[in-house]
Amino acid sequence: MTLDPRYSGAEAKGPEQTSLPTQRGIAWARIRTWEPLRDEVLNLAPLARLGYPRVARMADARIKPHRERLYAGATSRGAMPFERLPWDPNTYYTDVHMFGEREFGSVYLIDDERVALVETGTSNDADAILAAVHDFGYNPEDVDALVVSHIHLDHAGGAGFLLDAMRNATVYVHERGHKHLVDPSRLLASATDALQDMAESFGTMRPIRPDRLVAVRDGDTLDLGGRVLTFHHTPGHAPHELIVTDAKNRCIYTGDEAGLWFPRDNLLMPVTPAPSFDLTNNLASFETMLAFEPRALLFSHFGPHTEPRAAIETQRERYELWSAFVRERYKAKDEEAMVEELFGRYGKGATFYSREFLHRRIRNSVHGLVVYHRRLEHAAPGR
Ligand SMILES: [Zn+2]
Repeated sequence: MTLDPRYSGAEAKGPEQTSLPTQRGIAWARIRTWEPLRDEVLNLAPLARLGYPRVARMADARIKPHRERLYAGATSRGAMPFERLPWDPNTYYTDVHMFGEREFGSVYLIDDERVALVETGTSNDADAILAAVHDFGYNPEDVDALVVSHIHLDHAGGAGFLLDAMRNATVYVHERGHKHLVDPSRLLASATDALQDMAESFGTMRPIRPDRLVAVRDGDTLDLGGRVLTFHHTPGHAPHELIVTDAKNRCIYTGDEAGLWFPRDNLLMPVTPAPSFDLTNNLASFETMLAFEPRALLFSHFGPHTEPRAAIETQRERYELWSAFVRERYKAKDEEAMVEELFGRYGKGATFYSREFLHRRIRNSVHGLVVYHRRLEHAAPGR
């Protein structure tokens, strides 16, 4: 990526500082959230970061035994450094290695007067996110806002865990998801039920105190100082789905409303999960996205897409095709055959992701479309 010299100020906080070993980043993040050590480490760390060598050595010696112990248990799921969007010196994204996969789960960081993260991954990703924020040059306390596109576990599961360390942060969620973040028990029960053998990789949730949550509605905004984010209620993928637009960089955080984007394989796929996917609403969301005339779409799965109009048009067509395909076939009660056929048509050329991984993604959408068509049939018998 070529760097614009005008952005050299921002650059100092970006990739340069992310060269610390990732394992060390994880250890620091863990120690910061570790109650018995919290005070002494926090007192020393800011001085160390300002470059006082003796204090830095003291801090280092103090945490060394713990760090070494933690290294031993650390896995390869460490965060990637936050990478800057080429056209915006203050917006970054990282790969949290969601489900142990590369380039499936992204979290965005907006480095404005107030610091915001968009998406929080699963609860399993919280350590990786803390490490990435640390390597970026911030303490967890420096993060002001956590925006979740919707409350599915791979988007909002990390929030309750991050809040422990991010003591000044507030979570922004659509009002229809609010109560489930305060009391996630019903959501967790239905997710465990729906996910079955995948439940473990989707992690869990921790209740969030209402005073640390903001319930947003369509048209609400979040002022970060140098830019304003606008929330749009787009209940296609789920009833509590939001897309978020940034008028300054003209990007859209699409959550799951624009489907999945696998950049390495140049592959776009619908994501239409049970129990509440709604095709009509999702198609309307594509119109909302087009009307914004975005420069790029910022996918949660995965990363920026810089040809937004083409991407949206492709997805609009694919959502209709997949839905029509499942409507024709679902009464035969052979979801696996539908998965196989869709994989043959869309996923077969992929080389970066495994066949099994793509199969799981398609299976999730096929099942969601089956549930959707059953629901429609139930509402209007004889359709
Ligand atoms: Zn989702």
